[in-house]
Amino acid sequence: MHHNILDSPIQFLKGVGPKRAELLKKELGIHTYYHLLTHFPFRYVDRSRIYKVAELNTDIPFVQLKGKIVSIDMVGKTRAKRLVVKLQDDTGTLELVWFRGARWFQRTLKKGEEYLVFGKPQAYFGTLSIPHPEIDLLSESDTSIGSPLQAVYPSTEKLSAQGLNSRGIGKLQRELLIVSKGFLPEVLTSNIIQKNGLLPREDAFVHIHLPGNNELLKRASFRLKFEELFFIQLRILEARQTRITAFQGLNFSRVGDHFNTFYKEVLPFELTGAQKRVVKEIRADLGSGNQMNRLLQGDVGSGKTIVAFMIMLIAIDNGYQACIMAPTAILANQHMISISELAAPLGLKVALLTGASKTAERKKLHQQLEDGELDILIGTHAVIEDKVKFKNLGLVVIDEQHRFGVAQRAKLWKKNPVKPPHILVMTATPIPRTLAMTLYGELDVSIIDALPPGRKPVKTVHRFDNSRLKVFAFMKEQIKEGRQVYVVYPLIKESEKLDYKDLMDGYESVVRAFPMPEYQLCIVHGQMKPADKDLEMERFVKGQAQIMVATNVIEVGVNIPNATVMIIESAERFGLSQLHQLRGRVGRGADQSFCILMTGHKLSNDGKLRMETMVRSNDGFEIADVDLKLRGPGDLEGTQQSGILDLKIADLVRDVQVLQVAREQASTILDADPLLKAPENARLAKHLNERYRHVKDWSRIS
Ligand code: ADP
Ligand code: MG
Repeated sequence: MHHNILDSPIQFLKGVGPKRAELLKKELGIHTYYHLLTHFPFRYVDRSRIYKVAELNTDIPFVQLKGKIVSIDMVGKTRAKRLVVKLQDDTGTLELVWFRGARWFQRTLKKGEEYLVFGKPQAYFGTLSIPHPEIDLLSESDTSIGSPLQAVYPSTEKLSAQGLNSRGIGKLQRELLIVSKGFLPEVLTSNIIQKNGLLPREDAFVHIHLPGNNELLKRASFRLKFEELFFIQLRILEARQTRITAFQGLNFSRVGDHFNTFYKEVLPFELTGAQKRVVKEIRADLGSGNQMNRLLQGDVGSGKTIVAFMIMLIAIDNGYQACIMAPTAILANQHMISISELAAPLGLKVALLTGASKTAERKKLHQQLEDGELDILIGTHAVIEDKVKFKNLGLVVIDEQHRFGVAQRAKLWKKNPVKPPHILVMTATPIPRTLAMTLYGELDVSIIDALPPGRKPVKTVHRFDNSRLKVFAFMKEQIKEGRQVYVVYPLIKESEKLDYKDLMDGYESVVRAFPMPEYQLCIVHGQMKPADKDLEMERFVKGQAQIMVATNVIEVGVNIPNATVMIIESAERFGLSQLHQLRGRVGRGADQSFCILMTGHKLSNDGKLRMETMVRSNDGFEIADVDLKLRGPGDLEGTQQSGILDLKIADLVRDVQVLQVAREQASTILDADPLLKAPENARLAKHLNERYRHVKDWSRIS
């Protein structure tokens, strides 16, 4: 492969050198010319307009002025010392002020000369001034940038100290654009460029750094975002295709008795439209001859379990066994209860395997699995131990997938040595569509987007700590009517000790307000032994305790329809998706449920927005979108290590439409040419290999 100048170490770019190169690496991860070229501006300021001194006010974020320097004075003593320069145009005079580098400017600026000045006006003791403006001799300034829209680059304090503030970086970019001329070959096909009206690649790089005008900037930005998202989608979809061709799947072609009998005679309610659609999607997948890797998303209470069960019946009808894994023993137990009930009328054999299963029990169970006597195995991660062998495992359902690691999932594949089982991953953590398309791009996604009818949305309110007595009174009312209540405290790793104390103090105060024997309380937290935890949970499940005081350990999956009140203490310390998950613990029965968010009076803007969002919306997807906007995709579960979200210019929140277009385009290309072997796609294949191989292959993780 011939050397591309863009892969040169950054130190060799004119104006960089070893010292700055070291800093660029450390501070911004810029090692090569290409890295710098893709260090994109985050905004632009319009430098085509020249303001008059008389027009200025502090509401204008940045202004450009033209004027003559009429005085240059160093004023103040020692620490307060500053350079004050008066600039005059035909409407008035304005002060330019330097606290740093004052000496240097004192020496270089010349009285009587005309300058072009750029900066942010500020009010200083009632008069307007511009601190630390950019300033150039008028005679030299016109050509110094060559664009009316000046790019503003992210920089850091250390870089700025070495002259690489936004402006310094801009200078390097201009140098770089000159030397990279001819080294930015087109990477998209002419067909794609034409169809999407894209700027040529080199032009796009020029106009993103030095926009010729607003229109060109827009097109440059679109072209580069498109390119970035297109190749990521191409990578993901290609991986998916490879998986499909490499791993033939079990073909569940039979329309079976169990499924039909269940649907016609056992199913205790009508499926929602969303459930029916999802079952259909999955059935089609199972009969396609490909191995299924599907993510089933559905808000808390949307009825994923029944869908999973019906899918298991399809596996059984085709002569295979099925297995469902849950992240905790409590949840596995719950599944055991509800699935046994559904399976009994069909004469199917169901068994439970958790860490608590006794050795003798286990032995028997292992044997039954291998003999094919068991149809459905329910369990925790205990089911993936090597000792657990199936006669012919056809389907694995993973509930609340994010609790399972990559290696564990790989083990699952091996449970059927002939062909890997179909895999259905279920999650109630709503993942915004854009993120799902990227992060789980090679998984197929099914969404249950409706709740069963008759469900009353949970009423959510926000209360400050000083109304606790009223909240206690409300709890008493609900308990009197036979309902149960959760009181949840945050327990964050970093502040575990303090949080634990809060929990215990909170527990004490609840005990005082709800004395025995009239009231029964239970407490569940992460520092308890699992057996004790289960015991306390059990008391609540059976209705022996009316109030459960807990940390966020109860987040996932617990189903106690009689619990109608969720009180979340220090709610401002929880993230939105966590709050939504917690709220999902109530509203599972026929009675009206309530969620009360308790906070202190002091709330950050983010905190306020989170509370408002929770009060306003019960829609998990809407909440996930706000969450994504607040936190950025980097903080969401599972995204950190992927490398997929290491986006340089596109933004998964703002650029949904570009993403959609790019994904469709990538999919069209691969449909016609799955291996990118056609001559006209050679460019795509080459660029994909050179720049996007680092994106991890997600196709085998589930
Ligand atoms: P999740 O999606 O949170 O796992 P579940 O599967 O636990 O939800 O379902 C919650 C409750 O809703 C269960 O009690 C279940 O029996 C019930 N349910 C599921 N589907 C329907 C439906 N179509 N009509 C009425 N109730 C349903
Ligand atoms: Mg569930």
